[in-house]
Amino acid sequence: MCAVYTNSMTRSHTALLSLAALSLCTIASAQSILGFTPASAAREIEIENKFKSIPSPDEERRQHRIFTQEPHIAGSKRNNELANYIADEWKKQGLEDVVIHRYDVYGSNPKSASLEMISPTHYQALLRETPLPGDDDSKNPAITGAWLGMSISGEVTAPIIYAHSGNPEDYDLLRKNGISVKGKIVLVRYSNPYSYRGFKALTAQREGAAAMLVYSDPQEDGYKKGMVDPEGPWGPEYHIQRGAITYDFMVPGDPQTPGWASVPGAKRIPIEEAASAPKIMALPLSWHDAKPLLENMDGPVAPKDWQGGLPFEYHLGGDSVKAHLKIEMDNGIQPYYVVEGRIRGSELPDEWIVMGNHRDAWVFGGVDPSSGTASMMELTRAFSELKKQGMRPRRTLVVCSWDGEEVGLTGSTEWGEQFADELRAKAVAYINVDEATSGPNFHGQAVASLVPMLEETTRSLKDPSGKSLYEVWKETVEREKNEGKQSGQFSDSGAANQTLADTRIGSGSDHTVFLNFIGMPVLGLGFEGDYGVYHSAYDDFYWMNHFGDRGYKYHTLMSQLWGVTALRLANADLLPFDFASYASNIRQFVNELTRANEKNMWGQPPSAVGPGETRQPLLDLKPILAAIDDFEAAGKKLNESLNRQLSSGTLDPKLGATLDHGMMQVERNWLNPDGIPGRPWFKHILYGARFTYAHLELPGLTEAVEKQDWATAEQQAEILQRALHNNTKLLEELDQRLRP
Ligand SMILES: [Zn+2]
Repeated sequence: MCAVYTNSMTRSHTALLSLAALSLCTIASAQSILGFTPASAAREIEIENKFKSIPSPDEERRQHRIFTQEPHIAGSKRNNELANYIADEWKKQGLEDVVIHRYDVYGSNPKSASLEMISPTHYQALLRETPLPGDDDSKNPAITGAWLGMSISGEVTAPIIYAHSGNPEDYDLLRKNGISVKGKIVLVRYSNPYSYRGFKALTAQREGAAAMLVYSDPQEDGYKKGMVDPEGPWGPEYHIQRGAITYDFMVPGDPQTPGWASVPGAKRIPIEEAASAPKIMALPLSWHDAKPLLENMDGPVAPKDWQGGLPFEYHLGGDSVKAHLKIEMDNGIQPYYVVEGRIRGSELPDEWIVMGNHRDAWVFGGVDPSSGTASMMELTRAFSELKKQGMRPRRTLVVCSWDGEEVGLTGSTEWGEQFADELRAKAVAYINVDEATSGPNFHGQAVASLVPMLEETTRSLKDPSGKSLYEVWKETVEREKNEGKQSGQFSDSGAANQTLADTRIGSGSDHTVFLNFIGMPVLGLGFEGDYGVYHSAYDDFYWMNHFGDRGYKYHTLMSQLWGVTALRLANADLLPFDFASYASNIRQFVNELTRANEKNMWGQPPSAVGPGETRQPLLDLKPILAAIDDFEAAGKKLNESLNRQLSSGTLDPKLGATLDHGMMQVERNWLNPDGIPGRPWFKHILYGARFTYAHLELPGLTEAVEKQDWATAEQQAEILQRALHNNTKLLEELDQRLRP
């Protein structure tokens, strides 16, 4: 054998080169890979080296130009043309079974919007982005004005109140200052800490506001951060952050088909009854348009942390600033198109590695999502080239171009709902790439069972700096930890990860249906950097070529990384899951929950306990911790048995398939068919998202504990314990099969 394949070995990834190993195999094949026998690992390295040589920066740039040529919002003619373009390219490249799926969904488009300050002075908001010198795309007449997906139509004349980030605590502060927002227009900002604009809209709706304006303060993504576009990566004066306000934290996808697919002719609930459909008018503003409103406000001075980057003191507002707002939307049924292609597996065609990126963009989508789309086109070209050279993957590769991600994760959700049963039977994992590149800093997300394989994979890729991607990733994570920065757009826990990969997976992209509804392990890959033009017209080809990725090296690296990760999952002799690692991650989640709710969970402080009495917790998590220990022990035992089997170099194919299917079942077993309390669509008991999109671990249990609803907490704890028990039993059964 070329390398000893043990658990500690795979953790430390030390290349173990004994003399015997050297005499038996080449240096290249001396590398062990999780899930591979020594001989297969050697073959895999060869395949990966061929694969990595295919994606080219020039092709990445050429594809990126095609996708960023014109605005392509979900449902638009251009976006549908791009669906056809992808399908044609995939057929030409050699992908198999290329199909375009149509979903008739409740979509959202702008008709017109106007905002006019009528007192104390007159100001007509521009609601448009001005062209930037040097960036010809920014002159494109097809660029829309300001709008937010799923806003309702309406008209109101009312005072404007500044409500900071628009989170519930902000309204509490207004109330303390004697300010009600009922019937008024609230002005909130894209925030700090991050909260999804749909959550701001729901909060404004609950507070009884007539409308919500949300603006980009230079503090968050503008000149306070650094040079602005076209001189730098940050947002200029006129940039408008569009976006949807869909309440997809309740249920994503088409609001009228919650939990089933919007195939043409599907049953639909009335839009008035749809939990995820907003019932408030909302409009985004550039700081150029927000400035005259903020500048003229009276009322109490806003607290220090409500102050922003504009050069005056912010006030909460009163009756001084009145405005007339009119929004006309064209919301209704329209077709969205998901493109699907695959390369059928040679040996295990019914085990699927699913990959996807969304196609729709708010405008040109330079970063979001066209950097990912360009990387996907090079990914599929490279897969097809390998196939042509006789290297068909063992398992099936499925690649999808999603539609309407920006409007509520719609395309992926409908596709996932349509094929849920088949996916639960066949899917190994889903690898999502949304924004492939906005800079050089790698961020990887994965469910904990796939963290070791993802980290191992990054060791075999080279960063443009010449170091391994793994090394650069480690440096990035350490640097960001020191800076107290959060990793990933939707992570904000502040809690340290024990691994490089972020295992706190919230919502906000197309992985959601696969993880939370279908119970598939998911991975998310992206390179990030200074990026202040998100969802604006300035997120375009110019921006990418000047700030995001000048030589398209990171696009290329993304295609390589995405592909190698998929190929390892597709070609492994046994799927490279590590459930011991999963167990320790779940233990961390439980410990964090206990720490964060210490006071609630104990009901009384230690000092209140009399001598000789023991303090009784209101919720006892000891049985869960014991169940985690059992799951971890079973995971470790299985790891050892799998490693022993793999290093023996032989594996009965029938046994291999049985083991794979057992391991695939583990993630499904984390689903509770009833969903988490109040949100039946979200079925995963380990991962969820708060209404802000922030990740929420152990969602059902955590929410119950936070509400001090001990009956529900008890019930949720039991569900978790049962799932842990079932998965322990499953791992033990698999282990038995590997015993002589
Ligand atoms: Zn995106």
